[in-house]
Amino acid sequence: MNTALVWLRRDLRLYDHAALYHASKAAQKVVLVFIFDTDILADLPRADRRVAFIWASLHELKTTLESHGSSLIVRHGRALDLIPQLAVEFDASAVFCNRDYEPAAIARDTQVADQLQRDGRMLHSYKDQVIFECDEVLTQAGKPFSVFTPYKNAWLKRLTPFYLLAYPVRTLAFAALPVQTMINLAELGFEADSLADSPIKTGNDGAMRTWQDFQTRIAHYQDTRNFPAIKGPSYLSVHLRFGTLSIRQLASYAYHHGGAGAETWLSELIWREFYQQILWHHPQLAAGRAYKADFDTLVWPNPAGHFAAWCEARTGYPLIDAAMRQLNQTGYMHNRLRMVTAAFLVKDLHVDWRLGEAYFAQHLIDFDLAANNGGWQWSASTGCDAQPWFRIFNPITQSEKFDPDGKFIKRYVPELSALPAKYIHAPWLLTLTQQNLFNVRIGVDYPAPLVDHACARKLTLALYDLGNEGDKLERLI
Ligand SMILES: Cc1cc2nc3c(=O)[nH]c(=O)nc-3n(C[C@H](O)[C@H](O)[C@H](O)COP(=O)(O)OP(=O)(O)OC[C@H]3O[C@@H](n4cnc5c(N)ncnc54)[C@H](O)[C@@H]3O)c2cc1C
Repeated sequence: MNTALVWLRRDLRLYDHAALYHASKAAQKVVLVFIFDTDILADLPRADRRVAFIWASLHELKTTLESHGSSLIVRHGRALDLIPQLAVEFDASAVFCNRDYEPAAIARDTQVADQLQRDGRMLHSYKDQVIFECDEVLTQAGKPFSVFTPYKNAWLKRLTPFYLLAYPVRTLAFAALPVQTMINLAELGFEADSLADSPIKTGNDGAMRTWQDFQTRIAHYQDTRNFPAIKGPSYLSVHLRFGTLSIRQLASYAYHHGGAGAETWLSELIWREFYQQILWHHPQLAAGRAYKADFDTLVWPNPAGHFAAWCEARTGYPLIDAAMRQLNQTGYMHNRLRMVTAAFLVKDLHVDWRLGEAYFAQHLIDFDLAANNGGWQWSASTGCDAQPWFRIFNPITQSEKFDPDGKFIKRYVPELSALPAKYIHAPWLLTLTQQNLFNVRIGVDYPAPLVDHACARKLTLALYDLGNEGDKLERLI
């Protein structure tokens, strides 16, 4: 083959890259392309950190390609139309890409493959963003797993060093191209500075720096990962989302490093694949269906004002409000807090989990349909969880346990910065004298709690018990 096109999507890097490896083996010249797909961009807010992240990462990638005498072709439009057109323009015999398992991406890729085939060309797709995909890890009965721990055990049993091998990239295969001009964010219709205040580092360079930093901390991961005030997790989710580093590189390191920290972290990478295969086997989840179909008919009360107060960090529960401000201000939220805020929205505020899922989808820089849906359904007890629905987090106990000194709360809710730790988790219990002493008037400087947890808990138990008769509960609230 003379020329092949490599269509980049969730794999914005130039090393250990399955599609690039196969393309550079099959063709003498490889042209790399990226499409800012209007079918995806149309629904995004104009200040979108993800688009800014992608743009900066592509810019870095293009500069690297130019140092090899090549460049990156970036276009704006419908991938459905542009990929077949670019194949004609570059006289490429085939298009190579890495597989994406989201239902909409599968549908798009099928259409692109059909068009290419009509033109006498092929679309070749490869596993790249996971160690095990689709139905590579199944139960002994050949069924998909629905519980994490047996999935993880089967995943680990299947793992051999072969699956962790890197796909080397032959840079000599990059087609000689003149330097390309790249459409800017304003031309794409997006704000240019949405990452300006963000600590997130973009591109492969940012990914490597974040990864190297985490390697110095990985040994303590199991002890630190649950405490949002501490630098415990890796902060690599955005890089895994957009493929600015390779999953094989990370999994291989964690697997060979050993020790409790690396083992626990490898488990998190396996959670990622667990949810990816769940979505692949159950594409109806992308259309808002509950994993446990019984819960599809559950009627959510959605009391007036509850959802807006949660989004705007006005619930009166300091840990919840701090977490929502972290999300709104940075595009990231700590995993423990994702669990606590999601559970709070559903089980304390009685709001349909799909609204929370959509809010996270819009604001998370690492938004991933499979992980987000999995996390929300887990939190709402409608998903893959061995725990029954009557497990309900207590937001005050969670706050005392995981932010004992209130350090995280004070970082994002400075209104409460004068409060001693013992009062910060439930400030509504302060007497008026204490409120004056600590300079925070509940209901004025900081909201009174939107709900009483003990009452909310009882209503939740009744709601889940009533199932599709939940409208009876709505009348009670
Ligand atoms: C309600 C809810 C929504 C979530 N939405 C997303 C999302 O949109 N995108 C996303 O990447 N993660 C999501 N998660 C999972 C998890 O919270 C994030 O992956 C993690 O907080 C990212 O931070 P980190 O990279 O520092 O994580 P680390 O603790 O360093 O974990 C390493 C990597 O493992 C993967 N991972 C960790 N936990 C999970 C998990 N529970 N499910 C799937 N993958 C996991 C991620 O790729 C993460 O980057 C969600 C969790 C919940 C409870």
